[in-house]
Amino acid sequence: MEFYTGWSHSDAYFTNYFPNCPILISAVPDNRGTIKRFKQKPKKLILDCGSVMYVKQKNRPKLKDIFDLQVSLLQDCNPDTEITLVHFDEPMLHKTDLSEKYAAMERTLFNAYEYLRLFESSGLIKDANPMGVIQGYDQASIKFSAHELIKIGYRKFGIGSLLAKHYTTQIDMIQYAADIVGPSNLHVFGVTGIQQMNAMVDIGVASFDSTRPTMAAAFFQVFYSRPFRTYYLSASHAKITSTNRLNSPLPCDCPVCKVNPNDLFIPSPRDYMRLRSIHNYFHLQVEFNDILEEKRGALDAVSNVLWTGDTNDL
Ligand SMILES: [Zn+2]
Repeated sequence: MEFYTGWSHSDAYFTNYFPNCPILISAVPDNRGTIKRFKQKPKKLILDCGSVMYVKQKNRPKLKDIFDLQVSLLQDCNPDTEITLVHFDEPMLHKTDLSEKYAAMERTLFNAYEYLRLFESSGLIKDANPMGVIQGYDQASIKFSAHELIKIGYRKFGIGSLLAKHYTTQIDMIQYAADIVGPSNLHVFGVTGIQQMNAMVDIGVASFDSTRPTMAAAFFQVFYSRPFRTYYLSASHAKITSTNRLNSPLPCDCPVCKVNPNDLFIPSPRDYMRLRSIHNYFHLQVEFNDILEEKRGALDAVSNVLWTGDTNDL
């Protein structure tokens, strides 16, 4: 199971510190040409359409324009990069009315159809995998949306519009989607919580993405793991009522702290925010790996208990 880091043009170059870090980039104009700037190019990359950016705008960009931007990003990657292209979807964030939600689902499916035709005619089939976005607001609409995407021809799927929902609802929605498309074909967009990570490991999804290391760093937060904790920088001017403040570094083996852990505690400019995001990524990854190991260990323990064979067979 892979943890993709959501990346944008002013963020830290995660793969320069962690060469195997999978990256998700939105094909929005500001990100054009940015892959060239990575010293270490991503080995696994999801290129989505940055649909969330357009949610509040009346007009949508042309499908072909976004596709061309995705292709330009793709062309800057190494030939062996594992690339997934996501079609333009209509997020359900800020849509409260049932008819609006239904219309968003229909528009997403229409875009999915148009996009796959465009993808197939582009000759990129050997270079990338297309991903269909499941947009739904309840069990029935998620199932319908997933079935329609299968009919259109998708074999890889992502589920979106989970933000702003209670985490138990998010987990239910991931499960509904996984039941239809198979968990190993499912990516989960925009995950922030540790509980969701636990549930996704249980469900067995293929991957998820998160911008949390960068978001937290921008809001003057530092993560530590074992156990996973979040602290606010004492030096920040943010009006935070939290008592969880920290003014000096704790022991850490991340690439930033190995050089100078005090850099994390300098609130700005942005260079220090980037260093904080690298440190935060390190700890979220440690936490995620520990969840994976713990679940794997639990499975081994169960299989040992259930094993009734003769020890001579070992
Ligand atoms: Zn560190």
